This record gives sequence, structure tokens and C-alpha cells, in this order.
Amino acid sequence: MNYIKITKTDIANGAGVRCVLWVAGCDVHCKGCHNPCSWDFDAGQPFDDAAMEELIDALSRPWVQGLTLSGGHPLAYNNLPEIYQVCKAVRERLPEKDIWLYTGYELRAHDFDKSVDIGWDNALLMNHILAMCDVVVDGKYDESLRNISLKFRGSSNQRIIDVKKTIAANEICLWEG
Ligand code: SF4
Repeated sequence: MNYIKITKTDIANGAGVRCVLWVAGCDVHCKGCHNPCSWDFDAGQPFDDAAMEELIDALSRPWVQGLTLSGGHPLAYNNLPEIYQVCKAVRERLPEKDIWLYTGYELRAHDFDKSVDIGWDNALLMNHILAMCDVVVDGKYDESLRNISLKFRGSSNQRIIDVKKTIAANEICLWEG
């Protein structure tokens, strides 16, 4: 997986002060995407051990509430193995930090169930990633539904999903802040 950059202090992509990992590569291609230069999977630089340590170090600062995974598309097939490792490292080394993830996919409740294999090879990996997150913002950016007053999302079709509640209820539950 390549990444475009690590933003060490951000307040626009999730609750509180956050670090953002902007991954390279997106297979969704929303019309009007704010960041089309991130669609190329070869853009940016490889997410290597040094980048992982830089991210963990930035995230460990006491005023940082958590990590946001954005891009590009963190759930693009090619990015799943490294995104899984990033989530696992945060869960093991900084369990007090929360994880937000942005995806262009429209998710269903069973996508968060890590015991279910829905068929394609990396399905379980995607489910495990989603189950390690606290909040997931889903859906394509739809420029006809653009609304600049919305917090943490660009268009009104996108949902801010509370992962723990979704898993407990086995239906999509929205984050209430
Ligand atoms: S999923 Fe995100 S990065 Fe990909 S095209 Fe849509 S808005 Fe752009």
C-alpha cells in the first residue's frame, strides 16, 4: 500500500484532534471527489515500517484522540492487508485511541461481523478491519447531495456509523457524537 501523507493534527475528519492517514488508491471514483489525485494506487510512497512508527508516534501524543483512515480508499482491495495491520497496531499499542475510517462503499450490518465470510477472498479481512473501528463514514460522495453544513461528511447520503452499536444490534446504527 502507498500513502499520500500523514496529517498529525486534524479537526475536520472525525471527533476531537486526530491524526489522519491518507492512503493512495481508490476504486470508487465518485464524481466530484475532493481528492482525485489520490485515486492512483502508485501515488505517494510505500507505507513501510518507518511510516508505521511515524504514525504511532504522532498518535501517541496525549492531545490526540484517535486515528482517521481516509484517502484514497482504505477499503480498496489492494489496501486491505496494510490497513488491517495499522488497525491491529493501534488496538494493541494505543488501545485508548479511537479509529475512524472513511469508505466509498455502502455497508450492511453483516459487513461488521467478523465471523461471517460473505464470499470474496478478502471479505473476512474487511470485516475484521471494520470491527476494529469505532466509527465508519460510508457511501460515495454524491455532489447532488453536497451540504457544507454537515459535520465529517460531504454529502447527505453518507452515514456516520457507530460500529459497537451496529455490531450489538446487528443493524446499522448511526453515531450520535
Ligand atoms: S471514495 Fe473517497 S477518495 Fe474515492 S472517489 Fe469517493 S470521495 Fe474520492
